[in-house]
Amino acid sequence: MNFLEEKILQEGSIKPGNVLKIDSFLNHQIDIDIMRQMANEIKRRFRGKEVNKILTIEASGIAIATVLAEMYDVPVVFAKKSETANSTDDKYVAQAYSFTHKQMNQVFVSKPYLRDDDKVLIVDDFLADGQAMHALIDLVHQAGGAVVGIAVAVEKGQQNGGKILRSEGYHLESMAIVESMDWETQTIRFREQPKEVCESYNLKLINE
Ligand code: 5GP
Repeated sequence: MNFLEEKILQEGSIKPGNVLKIDSFLNHQIDIDIMRQMANEIKRRFRGKEVNKILTIEASGIAIATVLAEMYDVPVVFAKKSETANSTDDKYVAQAYSFTHKQMNQVFVSKPYLRDDDKVLIVDDFLADGQAMHALIDLVHQAGGAVVGIAVAVEKGQQNGGKILRSEGYHLESMAIVESMDWETQTIRFREQPKEVCESYNLKLINE
């Protein structure tokens, strides 16, 4: 079991509607040490890849994205949702159905912040059906940039987003993959991650 799975077991709760609540360290209060551990692990999993920008979506992706951007020493850009739009800049706009709010959202990035020479690592807190992620990919492609990879804290493996993105050929790395979860019994099962990853977590923990 890795640090994130442990943290989810200790502090997470399962809500009706297949929602995992991890407000105590990611979605409301932010545990910086967990952000750091995730950013370290993401950087390790994408080693050798050139990244010049981190892209996420407001609000909960911003914390991990910022810590990761600091490690790469590159800017972080977050896509905004239309209800907060107050800018007259030219924008790239994409559509995403919100899993948590059950509505269609427009998401946008002002044109100066995504470019055709960008090599973008996309980061978010959760991956469920992949709607938010596909909107972010769309924004990068509208700008003519390249998606180097996609990293998420929690992939909900019982939903199809991860499967679709991998079948589209994207390099997707998830720090924890929920295989199944049950609201009534409050039980959760994680998909086993590749062995080398587990070993490196152990080593890292021992070294720290
Ligand atoms: P998707 O677009 O992949 O269907 O859903 C991903 C987005 O919905 C994430 O940006 C995240 O904010 C939200 N989300 C999806 N499932 C969950 C969940 O179980 N818990 C929380 N806290 N957010 C979720």
